[in-house]
Amino acid sequence: MSNDVVVALDVGGTGMKCALVRPDGTVHHAERHPTLAARGPEAVTANILDIAAGLADRARADGLTPVAAGVAVPGVVDEETGTAVWSSNVGFRDVPLRALVSDRLGVPAALGHDVRVGGMAEARLGAGRAERHVLFIAIGTGIAAAHVVDGKAFAGAHGAAGEVGHVIVRPGGPPCGCGARGCLESVASASAVGRRYVELSGVPGVTASDVVARAAAGEELAKSVWTEAVEAFADGLLTAQALYDAGIVVLGGGLAESGEALLAPLRIALDARITFHRMPRIVRAALGDTAGCLGAALLALDTLEAPS
Ligand SMILES: [Zn+2]
Repeated sequence: MSNDVVVALDVGGTGMKCALVRPDGTVHHAERHPTLAARGPEAVTANILDIAAGLADRARADGLTPVAAGVAVPGVVDEETGTAVWSSNVGFRDVPLRALVSDRLGVPAALGHDVRVGGMAEARLGAGRAERHVLFIAIGTGIAAAHVVDGKAFAGAHGAAGEVGHVIVRPGGPPCGCGARGCLESVASASAVGRRYVELSGVPGVTASDVVARAAAGEELAKSVWTEAVEAFADGLLTAQALYDAGIVVLGGGLAESGEALLAPLRIALDARITFHRMPRIVRAALGDTAGCLGAALLALDTLEAPS
């Protein structure tokens, strides 16, 4: 038993984080590869299978036994059938990834949604591990969330739960990629913050983290853009808290790296909005960009425990 490991892959739009993980969650070996999404979904799928098989070989060479595999992908994921249904940045259309990985490696496999498994990892191994009710929110190009209770992330009836980024916080506001206007991610995602600053200042190429730095340095325009984003985020979080009553909100993704520059004003803004709600703790994610890969490993380990 002590020689068991699972093969875990977190497939992103540009890169894949891959690891061999022991049942206690410790990492035996980790590696990163480019996703090569531009070559199309068939090439990406072949790449995933080769990397997974390579990791299994590596495990055996190290005297370990690969007992299961877990893969996390972005987009719409049907976790019950193990299908990567749709993804804008990788191009998946109904790819039966779980079956393909399981057939190639000859072990049970699991397929999960990147943000949901990342939330699971933060809830079980990271910043949320002392709490039963965890809301993980990843703020990057978009905003997506995972509601995790007792270590299990809820996918919803159609695999689309947790889309906090599409809570409308500014009716009639900026257009969102989903087709609506004024969604939280159209106002408060990293890309929205950068875009808003560029729009108002006319200075090209300014990113959200530049805005945070400029605001910290006392620049008025940056301060007002950042405050707008934090206020919008608090509005979205208030709705999320009304629905989920989280004990802790764990913020991950690129924008969470701004740390207290986000957390401190956000706590104040949420507290000011709260009526009947209970204030959750609001903290930064602990696992960084390895959360998805660790979550994929947890999914793989869960397949071994599930009675089948
Ligand atoms: Zn939207």
